[in-house]
Amino acid sequence: MEYLIIGNSVAGTSCSEKIRSIDKDGHITMLSEESFAAYGRPLISYYLSGKVDANLMQYRTEEFYKKNKINVVLNCKALNIDVKNKKVKCSNNKIYSYDKLLIATGSVPFVPPVKGIENQKNTFTFLKLEDAKKIEKAVTKKSNVVIVGAGLIGLKAAEALADKVAKISVIDLADRLMASVLDKQTALIIQKYIEKNKVKFYLSNTVSEVNKDSVVLKNGETLPCDILIMAVGVKPNTEIALTAGVKINRGITVNEYMETSVKNIFSAGDCVESLDLLSNQNKVLALWPNAYMQGETAGSNMAGVKNEFKGSFAMNAIGFFGIQLISAGIVDPKDGKYKIYIEENEKDITYKKLVVDDNKLLGFALLNLPDRAGIYTSLINDDVKLDSLNYDITKKDIGLNVFPQDIRHNKMFRSNKQ
Ligand SMILES: Cc1cc2nc3c(=O)[nH]c(=O)nc-3n(C[C@H](O)[C@H](O)[C@H](O)COP(=O)(O)OP(=O)(O)OC[C@H]3O[C@@H](n4cnc5c(N)ncnc54)[C@H](O)[C@@H]3O)c2cc1C
Repeated sequence: MEYLIIGNSVAGTSCSEKIRSIDKDGHITMLSEESFAAYGRPLISYYLSGKVDANLMQYRTEEFYKKNKINVVLNCKALNIDVKNKKVKCSNNKIYSYDKLLIATGSVPFVPPVKGIENQKNTFTFLKLEDAKKIEKAVTKKSNVVIVGAGLIGLKAAEALADKVAKISVIDLADRLMASVLDKQTALIIQKYIEKNKVKFYLSNTVSEVNKDSVVLKNGETLPCDILIMAVGVKPNTEIALTAGVKINRGITVNEYMETSVKNIFSAGDCVESLDLLSNQNKVLALWPNAYMQGETAGSNMAGVKNEFKGSFAMNAIGFFGIQLISAGIVDPKDGKYKIYIEENEKDITYKKLVVDDNKLLGFALLNLPDRAGIYTSLINDDVKLDSLNYDITKKDIGLNVFPQDIRHNKMFRSNKQ
């Protein structure tokens, strides 16, 4: 059996591992357009700040690929999928055959058109190790950095550069940081904290023009700029999938087995859309654990053992500027029907928000309170009715003991088996 995987990151790797655990003899080939084997992508900001060496970012060792007989071909971009003949043409002029193919091409940065952007030769995105290396070369202690986008990636770039440059300005169209994840109150607490670190925010604003050494904002203000980082957002990388004619909506469409609309072609990770368990709609949930689980499910099915991906929900565990934020599910409901519980301590910079509806926990945000995140996540994941608990979830010391005895036993048994 020939297994071919396009994309050597978390989804591709978990797929290869799963295949090998089932099929000891099949050939596994992974193609990557990058020059580095799979690495912890979220670590690129730590590389840029100088906290982590590139060698320590490797997601799997060379030994792993050898032991599992996985052939990784680097600097090799897949250009075209010939569905009829089951062949993939690549930038290294080689053609790879497949019986089962996985498309795990992740995300690409979304860069909106901005007037004059070509005037700034130091314009970067921040998604790959190569981007971090380029930024590393370009910055100096005197740099005035402008980051467009106050989402996760923009803030991670700001954190990485805070001690390395003169000034960082972060611009966002939204009225708050991480608008897709945070409610206004949490965002404001984090903003105030980050502003102590040489970073200034320009919210409800945007860059209307880029000059050689400055940017002009929508409100007319001009900011000095010799490094411009575009971190507006990411979108599913569907370029190669298009050549196979697979069905694509916002991301590649897959069923519960991670199969695309074309026979023998599977897909997993940031490039697909999958079921969001809370809204019951298909969404692109571009998150590391999601990509891992989808890759694993795809691998199992590619190797002939039926396995379903049941869906997931948004969950973020982020650390920046020394603060920890964990959020999951619905955090900023627009509908007034939800019950909201908030606990805040400004002095300790802690904040807890729980969102409840129909006797269920639907979302939470925990700032600098990581201890019980697993329990809250379980309550959402297991669809637990809150009136079945032995405890009021809004109380402080929530633990496994909140679950009724049967659920508790089930959980302990499950975790012992893993
Ligand atoms: C700075 C940063 C911080 C992050 N922090 C977090 C976090 O805290 N928590 C979290 O859950 N997630 C985080 N993420 C998101 C997380 O990294 C992604 O969800 C995850 O990497 C997705 O994995 P993937 O395997 O689907 O795709 P990717 O990791 O995007 O990898 C896809 C690979 O496919 C390659 N490829 C694409 N097209 C081709 C082609 N045609 N031929 C060959 N190769 C191709 C790409 O070059 C890439 O190497 C962060 C991301 C970034 C950039």
